[in-house]
Amino acid sequence: MDSLSVYNSLSRKKEQFEPINPPFVGMYVCGPTVYGHAHLGHARSAITFDIVYRYLTFLGYKVRYVRNITDVGHLVNDADEGESKVEKQARLQQLEPMEVAQLYFNSYTADMTSMNLLRPSIEPRATGHILEQIEAIQQIIDNGYGYVSEGSVYFDVTKYNEDFGYGKLSGRDLDNMLEESRTNLEGQSEKRSSADFALWKKASPNHIMRWNSPWSEGFPGWHIECTVMSTKYLGAKYDIHGGGMDLLFPHHEAEIAQSNACNCHAPADQQDEAKYWLHNNMITYEGQKMGKSLGNAISLREFFSGDHALLDQAYHPMTIRFFILQAHYRSTLDFSNQALQGSEKALKRIHEAIKRLGGINPDDQAIVVNEEFEQNLASFMKDVQSALNDDFNTARVIARMFDALPVVNQLYKVKGGGFAVNPDTFNQFREDFLKVFTDILGMKSEVEESGNESQEVIDGLMKLVTEIRTTARAEKNWEVSDQIRDSLGSIGIKLEDNKQGTDWYYEK
Ligand SMILES: [Zn+2]
Repeated sequence: MDSLSVYNSLSRKKEQFEPINPPFVGMYVCGPTVYGHAHLGHARSAITFDIVYRYLTFLGYKVRYVRNITDVGHLVNDADEGESKVEKQARLQQLEPMEVAQLYFNSYTADMTSMNLLRPSIEPRATGHILEQIEAIQQIIDNGYGYVSEGSVYFDVTKYNEDFGYGKLSGRDLDNMLEESRTNLEGQSEKRSSADFALWKKASPNHIMRWNSPWSEGFPGWHIECTVMSTKYLGAKYDIHGGGMDLLFPHHEAEIAQSNACNCHAPADQQDEAKYWLHNNMITYEGQKMGKSLGNAISLREFFSGDHALLDQAYHPMTIRFFILQAHYRSTLDFSNQALQGSEKALKRIHEAIKRLGGINPDDQAIVVNEEFEQNLASFMKDVQSALNDDFNTARVIARMFDALPVVNQLYKVKGGGFAVNPDTFNQFREDFLKVFTDILGMKSEVEESGNESQEVIDGLMKLVTEIRTTARAEKNWEVSDQIRDSLGSIGIKLEDNKQGTDWYYEK
């Protein structure tokens, strides 16, 4: 069996995954800034690292998964000037900033839970770690990589660049960055260089979230919280740092610089904060970036309710999850109603197959092995693991599940007519298929979209309808039996007659 390899943004290549201290794995993922409802981009990042978490756990690693909550320091334009995102929302909603943070953290958690995400081991908040951030900033100043200016503290990128080289994660060159920002120096007079970023900001008189520090009453910069909280819970150097591609620069570049500036006397293999830096790609809408300013940002709640002008219908949370898993996490994923409806149908086929797998009993049947079928089911788990070992390729896993469906359908259909695979192979496959779907991909084996009660009603009605049809056929009343079949066909339900009676399923 091949072993796990992951694409490391730091080396720009796939590398063998070797944890620093096996069987333990430390993973830190940048979580949401809690000032609005979560959207599809949040779902993609969270689901990507949910898969990493689940698969590493499946492989036997003991994973400590830390995902932070940003409730302070993230400013509106992602740079060092402007209003705080949380405070701005507090003003608009006439709430205390901590109420805003709690409101949207609750909303985020509810949305993620409805998509069956596992909660991380630790969910630390930036405001809960102000003292640690002040200590780290002091250490950066003491080590010569930070300076105080008008009560704020900035990271000295030029000095850091001389000693460590700034830009190794993003592949950017400091001279080019300075050249690009030369025209944009307005309001940055406190900084020595436009590339410098804030570690601590002195609060303006009307700023609500503020803490005492050696430099001023103020609040931490956006990047320092992640360096501090990852170090606190995972150590100065840990295994995996994850996040969306949009965080790679400046956020993650700044994290690496801060970590090295704090930790500057440590040997080279103790540096760069994390060993593997993993980034998920973005979601587009008909080829365009999705964003609030572009008018095409759709919140997850709007997907779940269908209540948005761009949506044709409501989409079940598990359909959203499945849609995201149908692409590899490093590919862009283009959202459209058509694509989501495709995922919805594909998902129905898998649910149908799971239902059928439960109804197959090889022990009742004579065995007439079909080599092709036998091979298909016997190699299933090996193929799935090989896809996951190749940088968590869930798209290939799902494709492999679909490759097995025709065999499942055949085994189901020819009940009693000679079972085409060895029962041991079949039993193992059935167990693995469910495990892959529910434990590794984190999908639910049944969709409760219409509620259990409705499902009971549907089952009851279908039983009645198929019985009427069976009676009609026995009486050679083809008109009635054809009418039933055709009417059901027109709403996507297919009937299948076999020795045991009539089965029905949703057509693909
Ligand atoms: Zn972060």
